[in-house]
Amino acid sequence: MGDVTAEQLYDAFYEQAQALREGGADAVCIETMMDADEAVQAVRAAKAAGGLDVMATFTFERTKQGTYRTMMGLSPADAARAVLDAGADVIGANCGNGMERMADIVEELRNIYKEEYILVHANAGLPRNENGETVYPETPQEMAAHAEKLLDLGTNIIGGCCGTTPAHIQALRLLVDARG
Ligand SMILES: [Zn+2]
Repeated sequence: MGDVTAEQLYDAFYEQAQALREGGADAVCIETMMDADEAVQAVRAAKAAGGLDVMATFTFERTKQGTYRTMMGLSPADAARAVLDAGADVIGANCGNGMERMADIVEELRNIYKEEYILVHANAGLPRNENGETVYPETPQEMAAHAEKLLDLGTNIIGGCCGTTPAHIQALRLLVDARG
């Protein structure tokens, strides 16, 4: 966006990734990305720190046309291409959508990326404003019911973002276990 240079971003991400690796992390998740250039710097830096599996996920919003784009106008396919080329081990989406809409995004990714690992961290539904407070409406059971389609589509790693509680994660875990 012009406030920092690519090198400054790279250095900041590298310092964080190196500290995490020294602290014993096996992997890092670069999440809530919207811009390809920033995500690429983060992935490159995390891979350069060594010994870390690197996941990189973007946040998409549904457009009026029913397609999905990041705030910077990036499609799921193009976002994934950028971070895969930078060395990411896992692609996907987090935040911005509940499980139901995440299925559309996974479908788009899986059509193109047949073998790559896909991660989804969804919100507990789409937020509502109730008396000035942001509320995420889905119960653990509702979220898990919508997650079933994501697993059918070949999502490899599944979890929660905004509005999810330990009970939501428990419901997702039980769903995955029940499928064997
Ligand atoms: Zn979130």
